[in-house]
Amino acid sequence: MFLFSFFALLFMTASENDAAETIQAFVIPHSHMDVGWVYTVQESMHAYASNVYSSVVEELSRVKSRKFIAVEQEFFRLWWVNVASDWHKKQVKQLLQEGRLEFIIGGQVMHDEAVTDVDDAILQLTEGHGFLYETFGVRPRFSWHVDPFGASATTPVLFALAGFNAHLISRIDYDLKDVMQKNKKLQFVWRGSASLSEKQEIFTHTMDQFSYCTPSSLPFSNRSGFYWNGVALFPDPPKDGIYPNMSLPVTKETVELYAQTMVDNIKQRAQWFKTSHVLWPWGCDKQFYNASVQFMNMDVLVNYINTHSDKYGVAVQYATLGDYFQAVHQTNLSWDVRGSKDFLPYSTEPFQAWTGFYGSRNVLKGIARRASSLLHAAESLFTRYSISYPDGPVQREWALEKLKALRWAVSEVQHHDGITGTESPKVADMYTQHLMQGMMGAEELLAAVFLLPHSLELSDNIHSPQTRPTVEKKDVIEQHVIVYNPLAWNISTFINVSVSYTMAVVLDDDGKQVPAQIQQSATNSSGYDLFFVVELGGLQYRKYLVQFPQSHCGSACRITHAARIVKFKRKNVSQWKSRGRKLLPVLNECYKLMFDQETNLLHSITDRLEKRSIQVQQDFWEYEANGDVNAGPISDNYIFTANSSAVLAYKSVAMEIVPGKVVSEIRQYFYRNEDDKNHTYSVVTRVPVGFHGKLACHRLEQSYKVGPLEVNRETVFRTSTSLQNNRTLFTDNNGYQMMRRAYKNFVNNTVARNYYPMVRAAYIEDVSSRVAFLTERAHGVASLSQGQLEVMLHRRLWNNQQWNLGYNLTLNDSSVVRPVLWMILGSPAAVSSIYQQEAQELQHRPVVMPIDKPGKLWIQKEKSVRPFVQPVVLPQNLHMQSLSIPGWNYSPNHTQQLQNLGSGGDRGSKIDFDRILLRITHLYEEGEDPVLSKPTTINLKEVMLGVGEVTKVLERSLTGTWEISDLQRWSWRTNTGVGKTEREYVSGMPKDFNVTIFPKEIRTFFIYFK
Ligand SMILES: [Zn+2]
Repeated sequence: MFLFSFFALLFMTASENDAAETIQAFVIPHSHMDVGWVYTVQESMHAYASNVYSSVVEELSRVKSRKFIAVEQEFFRLWWVNVASDWHKKQVKQLLQEGRLEFIIGGQVMHDEAVTDVDDAILQLTEGHGFLYETFGVRPRFSWHVDPFGASATTPVLFALAGFNAHLISRIDYDLKDVMQKNKKLQFVWRGSASLSEKQEIFTHTMDQFSYCTPSSLPFSNRSGFYWNGVALFPDPPKDGIYPNMSLPVTKETVELYAQTMVDNIKQRAQWFKTSHVLWPWGCDKQFYNASVQFMNMDVLVNYINTHSDKYGVAVQYATLGDYFQAVHQTNLSWDVRGSKDFLPYSTEPFQAWTGFYGSRNVLKGIARRASSLLHAAESLFTRYSISYPDGPVQREWALEKLKALRWAVSEVQHHDGITGTESPKVADMYTQHLMQGMMGAEELLAAVFLLPHSLELSDNIHSPQTRPTVEKKDVIEQHVIVYNPLAWNISTFINVSVSYTMAVVLDDDGKQVPAQIQQSATNSSGYDLFFVVELGGLQYRKYLVQFPQSHCGSACRITHAARIVKFKRKNVSQWKSRGRKLLPVLNECYKLMFDQETNLLHSITDRLEKRSIQVQQDFWEYEANGDVNAGPISDNYIFTANSSAVLAYKSVAMEIVPGKVVSEIRQYFYRNEDDKNHTYSVVTRVPVGFHGKLACHRLEQSYKVGPLEVNRETVFRTSTSLQNNRTLFTDNNGYQMMRRAYKNFVNNTVARNYYPMVRAAYIEDVSSRVAFLTERAHGVASLSQGQLEVMLHRRLWNNQQWNLGYNLTLNDSSVVRPVLWMILGSPAAVSSIYQQEAQELQHRPVVMPIDKPGKLWIQKEKSVRPFVQPVVLPQNLHMQSLSIPGWNYSPNHTQQLQNLGSGGDRGSKIDFDRILLRITHLYEEGEDPVLSKPTTINLKEVMLGVGEVTKVLERSLTGTWEISDLQRWSWRTNTGVGKTEREYVSGMPKDFNVTIFPKEIRTFFIYFK
């Protein structure tokens, strides 16, 4: 009460002083609805989410002044399809037309910004936007990223490309927000990409210290704030409609107290902004499930303040986010410019660094990315199929349903409590289940397409393979494996198939033997790993025949190398003596790796091309986390708190080397104790051994096995090198761009605050060398000592904090994780020219699908023809990010689309299978590479010839909803003067099918085939 009166007095004085300008408060009703987190989507729909939309639509229809913003499309769509009545649907369309209901962001979820891949962020946005445009002809213009844990510089670029006029963030470092707030710097124009710069800049609003929730603890109101409907209840809404913590109603007795509190808060916030407009979010998590009681009370309050507007110096109105940004835009002020710097990592307090989630639930992070790459492969394969055989036996509607299910699941897990690993175990299970189901569907689709050539009538493009069985027929067992290259580049690599025979011969679809190698598996003691070399054109698949001879097969088997395992004596750390004296080399064309027999660890790597040697040691370390809140700061799902330095996680190491002709393998096993029988950690390093330069020899693949961990351990894989990097690290923002991370000293919590997310890549370098790591799932990464780079691979944590226990968010994750990293060494220039493509090759490894079980006879039945799948190849610096049939039924012409909707054309419209979405991205920054950074012109007709004959190309906005020449975004004045504007597009149709793609551009097209 004392505080309250004191502030009231303070602000009365302030408002008298500058009474000239009335503060305009924009009360934005919203409900933050996590697509996951503590409760599953189904539980959330049942407990509150479905009521939010029903009751909000009813209440808005009742009173003209009321407004609402709708954010997460997954919930809205579930409501729209399963719950909304015809009356609700009619009202929604009316409210949209009146601008009282506004879709914000429009993605399926509010995606995480630290650990999501750019492809998946685009996917979830495209999914939501496609639905909104198809259903309502609506294209969202504003973002509302109120809850992601830190802000990436890639997000503003994506939102600019999607046609947004303004962006909004909230969670940034507490100390930085303080400073920005004091200096009225919370709003700025963000140029998120260094290469695209002002071409894709966007006005950005940072929420003030109150963030997205209404002030929530008022002394006179039940310890609650402006939440008259109280707090949502799980699993069921209460039968009597009485929820806990409902705020006191606004009555004659309370209205002045409420008004004064609100006005004070508005005035406090007004001081932090340059204009007299205050964004006043009204809502919080899971609000407005009883919109009636919410609006009934707020209506009175709003009226009361406005009738006393002169006295208060404040006017309030219900608003959408668009209303607020429009008002700010109209002031025509000049804004500071922020370059391509992100807001990661994120701390809420000195000991609360939100860097733990980069490594939380590593298994889920891995499945999410695998699902994404499978989706990418299935999309392009189905697109090719559908163009070639529009009436083929794989039913297109069936196929599209399979793809849609996986698109939905991959979109869903991008939620900021999804892929982050910050959800409860049952919600993690929900994401996993949806992803696995979606992946099974996509695999069914792949299998259906792969099996087709046998039944299709093929006229041209036929190859007649000269199948020369090289092994005696009677004694052979055979298996067929299809390998698909989902990248639009030619590749040559090795693949690994698990088999249960000691010898195998591999033939390609021309009947030619391919180089292969077989050896006892590192992971399965009774099984064998068969490696063989595959060469595939872009978007091409080939069938390989694997023959397992059941008796001696003589010369035919010689092309397959039977590799032997060489075992080395297990070494205890306590007995290490003179290191670096007994070294074992493993060579390929690019490198000489030296392993130390004294330690069984890597000792050094020589770059044979540059004739330069780097000391490299790699091993496992652990942070011992505190689980007792009474003993100090803890580590949990979100937060990493290193109480001391990491400790060595093993006492002894065993090593095996498998010298090969396709791949040489080094297997290292790390034991927690000297006499442990089973190892806790292992690394298998695969060194590609050149077959006449066919294999990319610079790619060192490392597969790890980590866990199960002991409780309260956070495990890192540490690479210590002789590089002079001064603890400066480079990590990526969503796989789209790299950020330089200079080591920072803090008074507290320095280790945790120097951790960064690694989505696809991280590297350290000095003047002569760079050591890069590429990854197929997100991790946390840091450089804490000279020449060092550590990757946090796994965490298992339990603590006694009430909040964590109440929500079951303690991350007691006892799983075994098996991530993969690729390591590349070389001069900075050499690594720079390849690591972007390599990161794509890791993410989109060939799809390997055995299409039968090992058996006899299959080949005799088969027709000896195969369709020749034409390759589709882009230049090395351009990546085909997407080739898909979205299946939307909207018209690409906006006027036409609105007309169709107006005449009820949204019902029963046919799916458009002819519209292909093509997205191409330039992988390089301006100036990054002398050749590859250049703008690159391609002819889409020529490039796509392998798929079919292109007849029409339309350039579109990122998510497809705008014709690019129609897209006008608001321009904002900046303090750096007027810069370049967006590229001028004469029309959405590229001339002569030629397109020039500039560094870091992401270009989206609709293409149509003959
Ligand atoms: Zn949230």
